[in-house]
Amino acid sequence: PQTHFGFQNVSEEERREKIYQVFENVAEKYDVMNDSMSLGIHRVWKDVLMHKMNPSPGTLLVDVAGGTGDIAFRFLNYVRAVRERQLQQKLRQHQNLSWQEISKSYQEEKSNPLGDSQVVVCDINREMLKAGKQRAQHLGYSEGLSWVLGNAEELPFDDDKFDVYTIAFGIRNVTRIDLALQEAYRVLKPGGRFLCLEFSHVSNPILSRLYDLYSFQVVPVLGEVIAGDWKSYQYLVESIRRFPPQEELKAMIEDVGFLKVDYENLNSGIVAIHSGFKL
Ligand code: SAM
Repeated sequence: PQTHFGFQNVSEEERREKIYQVFENVAEKYDVMNDSMSLGIHRVWKDVLMHKMNPSPGTLLVDVAGGTGDIAFRFLNYVRAVRERQLQQKLRQHQNLSWQEISKSYQEEKSNPLGDSQVVVCDINREMLKAGKQRAQHLGYSEGLSWVLGNAEELPFDDDKFDVYTIAFGIRNVTRIDLALQEAYRVLKPGGRFLCLEFSHVSNPILSRLYDLYSFQVVPVLGEVIAGDWKSYQYLVESIRRFPPQEELKAMIEDVGFLKVDYENLNSGIVAIHSGFKL
C-alpha cells in the first residue's frame, strides 16, 4: 500500500525526522496503545523474549530503542527472581548450614538483589525516555537501571561492553538497519548475544488476510480514538509491512558477523525473535 509519508521518495534525514515525530506524538499514550492494539499480546511476546534470553545475575544488558522500558523492567524482574531462586536452592542443598551462614546469605541477597545485573535503555527519542523514566519511578524501578539518549546507528557506548543486546519493536524504525546491526556487534562482548523482537511476515494466507484487515482497518481507528492520532498508527502498520521478512533479516544479521543466527516465529510469524552470537 502507498504510504502517506511517501517514504519511497524522502531522504534518510527526512525519514528519521518523521519517525521521530511519530514517537514524540505517541509517547504519552504509547503503553495504553500497545495494549489495546495488540490486545495485550505484546506482553506475552516480550515474556518469551525474556525466557529466551534467560539472563543470569550479573548480566549487563543494553536495550536499544527501549522506549518506555518494557524490556528493561522485565529483565530486572527476571534476574531478581533467578537470584532469589538460587538462594533458596543453596539453602535447601545445605540444610546443615549454621544460622550465621544462612543469615549472611540472606543479607547478601537483600543488599544486592540483582547480583550486579544492569540494564541500559537507549532510545533516540527524548519524549519516549521521559515517559519511561516517569513509569520507572511510578513502578519503583531504580537500581540497576539507566537511560541514555542515543541512536541505534551510532551507539554512545564503548566496544565489547555488553553481555546482551536487545531491540524490541525498534529495528523497523531505524533508517539504516545495516548500521544498527554493525553497532550491535561492536558493543557486544565476545560471547555476547543479539536478540531482536520484531513484527514479521505471516505465511498462512488466511491469517495473513485477517491480519491485514485488522492492521489497516482497525489499528488506525484505535489510534484516532485513543490517541487522537490516525497518521502515526498508520505509519506503524506500514512500517511493519515494509520490514524485511524473516530469512532476509537473518541474512543481514549474519552479514555483520554474527554466528549461530536463528529465528523463532511467534503466532505464525506475526512476530519473530532473531538471535545471534558474537563469537
Ligand atoms: N522497545 C519498546 C517496546 O518494545 O515497547 C519501544 C518500541 S517503539 C515501537 C520503537 C522505539 O524505537 C521508539 O521509542 C523510538 O523512539 C525508537 N527508535 C526509533 N528509531 C531509533 C533509532 N535510530 N535509535 C534508537 N531508537 C530508535
